[in-house]
Amino acid sequence: MSTTVLITGVTGFIAFHMLEAALASPSNYRVRATLRSMSKKDELLARLLPEDRERVELIEVADTASSDLSEAVRGVSYIFHLTSPFQTNIEDPERDLLKPAVDGTLNLLKYANKEPSVEKVVVTSSFAAIIDFQAGGLERPGYVYTTKDWNPGTFEEAKNATGPTAGLFAYCVSKKLAEKAAWDFVEKEKPSFSLATINPPMVYGPTIQPGIRRKNLNTSSAALYDLINGRDSMPQGLFPPFCHVKDVAAAHLRAVELPKAMGRRYLLCGGMLSANHAVKFIAEHYPLLQSKLPKGWQEAAQQLPDLSQIAQLDASDAKKYLEMDFRDWKTTLKDCVDDLQQLEKRPNWDA
Ligand code: NDP
Repeated sequence: MSTTVLITGVTGFIAFHMLEAALASPSNYRVRATLRSMSKKDELLARLLPEDRERVELIEVADTASSDLSEAVRGVSYIFHLTSPFQTNIEDPERDLLKPAVDGTLNLLKYANKEPSVEKVVVTSSFAAIIDFQAGGLERPGYVYTTKDWNPGTFEEAKNATGPTAGLFAYCVSKKLAEKAAWDFVEKEKPSFSLATINPPMVYGPTIQPGIRRKNLNTSSAALYDLINGRDSMPQGLFPPFCHVKDVAAAHLRAVELPKAMGRRYLLCGGMLSANHAVKFIAEHYPLLQSKLPKGWQEAAQQLPDLSQIAQLDASDAKKYLEMDFRDWKTTLKDCVDDLQQLEKRPNWDA
């Protein structure tokens, strides 16, 4: 009998790639996947090969943080937990980010702990749970972040943060607190399942999730879309460390499939990409897009930052235990630009 895996939040950018990767795996998994509403069900199923649809069971979970998840975890061997709000334009950090992230993770682990079939749980955390803004964030020449690092931000600081970066700060703290809660749960409850966390920085790649429109483009894809949608200035703060979404999905699967891979945090990194490098590349490889590059791109393309001068990310554990080999920035950026151009052509893109 084939193994059943659970993917939470399958309508998300990374989660839909997880679904594709799980279905393509030689392990022939059956996939149960949660989504907040069945409104995207038909579009989701239409994106799958007919022979794969039979191996997919979709179930509605209105709120991972408070719903009864007994049905979701029943008979499942592996769980990939991706549901978590990734947005920075929020009104209330506690309500919009901190509580859904932390309570969503804890509620899932609580139900997983009651289900004897669950052997392994992989939680999608983030480099956000690792970066230390108080020490300078990436502005730490010579510093190399590892999985020993933890974002020191607290619930109270995130809840009370103000100013233009408050949403980003609260998001990062939500990821730190959710991941910390997961490791603390394992330490305290000693469940029969093992835990691993995947900590990617910015995740880029084709947007294949259902129901995508310009207004709900996932946050990391929107950051790249800002480079080719005719802005009147260069976007500030494209966060340089990145990982291709297919590598992120592969890392999750390898965590459960490879021996000795569970029980660890995995920092992923395919390299560094600045907005200046990106506009130069796009101008050279997509001449027809030059008119859609942000105003000032010519100057930006001539002033490429030295990305070896910012803090680096140590992804050696992912290379060692998950046997990862990451896609580079040119491949990743090209995949994104090709995809975003196609998205723009969809009739309902601006709906
Ligand atoms: P998406 O926004 O595409 O997906 C987020 C998922 O979480 C969706 O399924 C969404 O459901 C669900 N969700 C959003 N808000 C809530 C909420 N309040 N309560 C319950 N569910 C919610 O983001 P990504 O795919 O990019 O992110 C997936 C995971 O990866 C997240 O945990 C994120 O923190 C993490 N991550 C992402 C990175 C990136 O650059 N993309 C980098 C590092 C980590 P619905 O579709 O119904 O809105």
